[in-house]
Amino acid sequence: EQEVSEYRKSLAIRVSGFDVPRPVKTFEDCGFAPELMRAIVKQGYEKPTTIQCQALPIVLSGRDVIGIAKTGSGKTASFVLPMIVHIMDQPELQKEEGPIGVICAPTRELAHQIFLEAKKFAKAYGIRASAVYGGMSKLDQFKELKAGCEIVVATPGRLIDMLKMKALTMTRATYLVLDEADRMFDLGFEPQIRSIVGQIRPDRQTLLFSATMPRKVEKLAREVLSDPIRVTVGEVG
Ligand code: ADP
Ligand code: MG
Repeated sequence: EQEVSEYRKSLAIRVSGFDVPRPVKTFEDCGFAPELMRAIVKQGYEKPTTIQCQALPIVLSGRDVIGIAKTGSGKTASFVLPMIVHIMDQPELQKEEGPIGVICAPTRELAHQIFLEAKKFAKAYGIRASAVYGGMSKLDQFKELKAGCEIVVATPGRLIDMLKMKALTMTRATYLVLDEADRMFDLGFEPQIRSIVGQIRPDRQTLLFSATMPRKVEKLAREVLSDPIRVTVGEVG
């Protein structure tokens, strides 16, 4: 414990919450299956970044997480890798459809980047990912979602449009990620985020990532996460 706390201090890491799992030092420590390990190696990821060392074991344990770290720190893999494990852990529920993992991001560029990263790890398992954002034909998107998927990476506005068109249902969704929450608020997406969260079962796992934690984002986190563990890396602006 002393070792963990000194290590965290040396890297400006703060972790708060009840029963926090110990950090990992390697991807092997995460207990990933060989297919997933191969995909990680193929990506050129040799060892987890600072935020990944802290967040991966917490997210893998099923806990809600608030992750605060600057751009470029590797936040995406800290929610995408456990999402693949979460999806593979679901019992086969043929009669249910719609995504199991739902990721919201502020812009189409960011959603697309996350979509590409998710696809790299999902491929090994035949898990289907769809990207849902403006600038693509709504009809094409509708058809793609109707065909089915396990992961949706979306901007909030377009996801709401697709839900209204009944292109997908959220009955199977149990893993929700709000990425770059502060930017989504800056762009005025708070009502859409609240609507999306309200359509996902309350026993879901919820993860919120943000570079900063303005009061409005803090309030949302209190309302939509259960007993979260907060991981902060570096100074927060
Ligand atoms: P953030 O979301 O925190 O801004 P990203 O998840 O986009 O950061 O990651 C930033 C870059 O670091 C990406 O190019 C990603 O591929 C790379 N990356 C992520 N994790 C690792 C890792 N463990 N080892 C090496 N590179 C990594
Ligand atoms: Mg990011």
